[in-house]
Amino acid sequence: MNKATRAAVIAGNWKMNKTPSEASVLVSAIAERAAGKDGCRVVLCVPYVDIPAAVEAARGTNVKIGAENVHFKESGAYTGEISAAMLVECGVEYVIVGHSERRQYFGETNETVNLRAKAGLAAGLKVIICVGEVLEERQSGITSEIVSMQTKLALAGITPEELENVIIAYEPVWAIGTGLTATPEQADEVCGIIRSVVAGLYGEDKAMALTVQYGGSMNDKNAAELLSKVNVDGGLIGGASLKPDAFGSIIDAAQ
Ligand code: PEP
Repeated sequence: MNKATRAAVIAGNWKMNKTPSEASVLVSAIAERAAGKDGCRVVLCVPYVDIPAAVEAARGTNVKIGAENVHFKESGAYTGEISAAMLVECGVEYVIVGHSERRQYFGETNETVNLRAKAGLAAGLKVIICVGEVLEERQSGITSEIVSMQTKLALAGITPEELENVIIAYEPVWAIGTGLTATPEQADEVCGIIRSVVAGLYGEDKAMALTVQYGGSMNDKNAAELLSKVNVDGGLIGGASLKPDAFGSIIDAAQ
């Protein structure tokens, strides 16, 4: 299996932006740009409170709705958290886990990323697992070790069948929201490293079928070159996913 047969996934991560009424308008505008673009899957991961409005606005379009996180317990005394079953019942199909902002600001660890990924998969969600090095790690020459370790720990206990619903997003932390982008060669190299780690764990066929995204200041100007790389199967996009034209151009580039 090669790149052409893997699912290209262009996913937006809205972070803490847009109220429900604004979400409805933005989903509709992006759905219009995405209409008829069957060469990639289009996903918008939105704040929890926007989910009902986003699901409604995406109905009948080729845009799927995702959440930005999920808790690993089914229910209980976890104030402020949201379970996978709650997301599924609201019409959510995808969920991001392990975003660097969650790791940096909210105490997310490799262990909780793994637990959240397993909870999402058990509920039938497609899970986008984020991995990536910080600037000091890249400068110390340990990007490969860091990303390999994060990938292995995130996938612990996930079955080969479940892996079919996993997407891994390589997001160098120094490139997120900074305007700095990994070069296409850097993105391709690390996405390739992730694929080899997965090959070591699950075998070559599973690894070749896995969608590996790049994320980090992807925009309408740099998307085509990043997405042309053999190991880059899509993008996880923050800032540009709030702009229908820019996001639409990234979808065009993924065609
Ligand atoms: C992200 O939030 O995952 C991201 C990649 O953000 P940005 O595109 O703004 O760098």
